[in-house]
Amino acid sequence: MTEFEQRRRAAADRLSGAKVDALLVSSPPNVRYLSGYSGSNGLMLVTAADEWFFTDPRYGEEASATITCHVQVCQGPLMKAAAALAKRNKLKRIGIEPSWLRLGDYYELQQAMGPGVELKPVPGAVEALRAVKSPGEIAKIRNSVRVSSEAFSRTLNRIRPGVRENQIAAEIDFQMRVLGAEKNAFDSIVAAGPRSALPHAHPTTHPLGPNELVLIDIGAMVGGYASDMTRVACIGTPPKRIREIYKAVAEAQLAALDAVRPGVPVSKVDAAARQVLKGHGLEKQFVHSTGHGLGLEIHEPPKIGKGEKMRLQVGMVITIEPGAYVAGFAGVRIEDTVLVTERGCQIITQTPKKLFLL
Ligand code: ZN
Ligand code: ZN
Repeated sequence: MTEFEQRRRAAADRLSGAKVDALLVSSPPNVRYLSGYSGSNGLMLVTAADEWFFTDPRYGEEASATITCHVQVCQGPLMKAAAALAKRNKLKRIGIEPSWLRLGDYYELQQAMGPGVELKPVPGAVEALRAVKSPGEIAKIRNSVRVSSEAFSRTLNRIRPGVRENQIAAEIDFQMRVLGAEKNAFDSIVAAGPRSALPHAHPTTHPLGPNELVLIDIGAMVGGYASDMTRVACIGTPPKRIREIYKAVAEAQLAALDAVRPGVPVSKVDAAARQVLKGHGLEKQFVHSTGHGLGLEIHEPPKIGKGEKMRLQVGMVITIEPGAYVAGFAGVRIEDTVLVTERGCQIITQTPKKLFLL
């Protein structure tokens, strides 16, 4: 059995628990996970006994050659073809992905299937399988991490006073592509001075001034898999307060990394970071969660946050990224991509962890 066949069977095994006869998979990353298809128009229907992949003629030949379940090449809407197939197979309860199925598609499905067929939301069925990565997936993530780290170090060497945030972002994006990335995992964040206190700032034409902190949060998509890393740098001498905030966040990040091991509730990892920042009077300045899973998407389960119930498992790949943001002054975040192992975790990100001085 190929890895894709194993994944489809694992998805099929979840059907009875969800009390459905079939799962209609419309999320592009989930379709890719179950079939390897990375085009823009694919759909899957998985039942306990069988699996179908639907696409249009643009992808027909490639899909038929590479995908090892039934492949239907459709002239019209894929939803209609899936509905017709469900009807023919007398499927009564079809699981749908509520975070992905568009309302228009939902109505189209309902109409095509007619009365007597129930469309039942089954949230996160495939995402739950995706949370634990296979050795092949881990190798792809390592590669993606390597690309973004190398793009970062190439770009760092070129940062001079006066260079603009958007120029730094453009250089990082270019280097990631040159190094083999298909695209960015997300829009690169380059935020200098007081703008570094905005956790998701977009790069502007602001030129970097002396003694100004710059926060850089980047990730690549390589072979379909994401990476995610944040570092901060300073041109000249960082003010004392910035060094203090950096030290506190670095300590919080190490505490969270220390808490990572199989079986631990993710909320505990989050609490470990929060506890340290509290000790430095910075708990109110930590305005997001401690991390997230990543893989085919930049944000995947588990979310490493307050009140989250999931427990870590060997093979999960997550980020650890506490931060502290002092409005109008500066923000610091330190983020690594890490693998959960038997004994704790392995930090995949190889970029040195320090306040880079330029
Ligand atoms: Zn990030
Ligand atoms: Zn992140």
